[in-house]
Formats: sequence, structure tokens, C-alpha cells
Amino acid sequence: MSYVVTIDGPAASGKSSVSREVASSLGWSWVSTGAFYRALAFFASYKGVSLESEQDLAQAIKSDLWKVHLSSEKTLVFCEGKDVTEQIYTDDVGSVASQISKFPQVRKELLQAQRDCTVGVKGLIAEGRDCGTVVFPQADLKFYITAKDEDRAQRRALEEGKAFEEVHKSQQVRDTQDSQRVTSPLQIPENAIVVDTTDMDLQQVVRKVEQSIREKLQI
Ligand code: C5P
Repeated sequence: MSYVVTIDGPAASGKSSVSREVASSLGWSWVSTGAFYRALAFFASYKGVSLESEQDLAQAIKSDLWKVHLSSEKTLVFCEGKDVTEQIYTDDVGSVASQISKFPQVRKELLQAQRDCTVGVKGLIAEGRDCGTVVFPQADLKFYITAKDEDRAQRRALEEGKAFEEVHKSQQVRDTQDSQRVTSPLQIPENAIVVDTTDMDLQQVVRKVEQSIREKLQI
């Protein structure tokens, strides 16, 4: 049985960067569970599947034409054999992912594939919105990472070369949708360690998370 640590939090809170660094330091794997929702959003848009049809989206999950692969750098996505990773990590695909992630049937169909990420690994850091509450409720340790929304939007605007206002607005819509949906909303898991990264740099957050894991798991 491998160790599982979850990191949940709102959009652009730095979950992926922290997960990547901590996993690398521990010799573990990590997964961005958002990649599953982004991959489906991308695939459905590409194939012309209605983004309003819960049934058609749930059916599209069963297709073997798209796949998610773990790697130390990023959670990779392939569509019809082509690496589309760069295309899925955009703000626009994030917005579509948020729109379709409200459907209970979609969430249910994607659950097992996320849980299977623990197979054959020494430890897994899983980051997303419901990792500590739904995907891995029995996780060894849970974190909730957040930061002031202006800081998060600024970070993402710089990364994507977009205007702050535009990113800030779509991020607010996404955070509201993700935290107010009925099924598996974004929330702080019970017993989670909350880390507000507003006045911290990446290395400080990484140290804090790694130290907490080492102390709790005695590794
Ligand atoms: O984390 P990321 O920005 O890649 O997630 C994209 C979208 O996927 C989120 O806005 C959210 O709607 C959805 N998501 C989710 N549950 C997760 C991870 C992501 O609903 N565990």
C-alpha cells in the first residue's frame, strides 16, 4: 500500500508546483487530478460532444482515444496518440473543465482512474479540488493550499501572458463554480493543514509541506 498525500485548493494556488517539488524530493509520484477534467474538456470540444450533456460527456470518458499519464514534470494528456499537454493547461480549457466538472456522472466516471494513480508507486501526491474529501478520503495527510485571489490571478496572468483583469474575472467565476457545486465542491477537508501562501515563496511552501509529511509519516 503506497502513501497518499492530498493537496486541494482554488485555481492557480500553486498546487502543481508544490506537488512536483515535494514529490521529487521524496522520490514519489504526483498527479494533477484537474488534468482528467481538462483532458475531457479538450476531448469533448475537439469531438463536438455537447458540453451540456452529462450523458454524452460520461460516455466520452469511456473512449480510449484520450489518456492521462503521470510524469515527474507534469501530468500529461494524450488525445488520439498526440501529446496535447501544452494545450490543456490554458485558462480557457480550465474554464470548460470547471463547467463540466459539476456533473455527478462525470465525476463518478473519472474517480477510478484517479484512484488508480496509486498503483505501483511508493507514494502519491494528488492535487485538485476534492482529493482529500472524495478521491482519497483515507489519505495519510491532507493539505489545503490557498492565496489571495489577486495574487493567484497575477501569477497566472504572467504565466499565460494575458491581462490581469481577464484572468482575475475568469478565475473568480471558476472558484465560485467549483466551491458552490452540489457534488464534491472545493472545500477544506477535515483535519487538513491549511497553508496560505500569499506571503510565501515557492521554496518556503515546499519546505513546510515536505517537513509536515516527513514528521507525520516518520520518513
Ligand atoms: O486544478 P485545475 O485548474 O487543473 O482544474 C481544472 C478544473 O477541473 C477545476 O476548475 C475544477 O472544476 C475541476 N477539478 C475538479 N476536481 C478536481 C480537480 C479539478 O472538479 N479534483
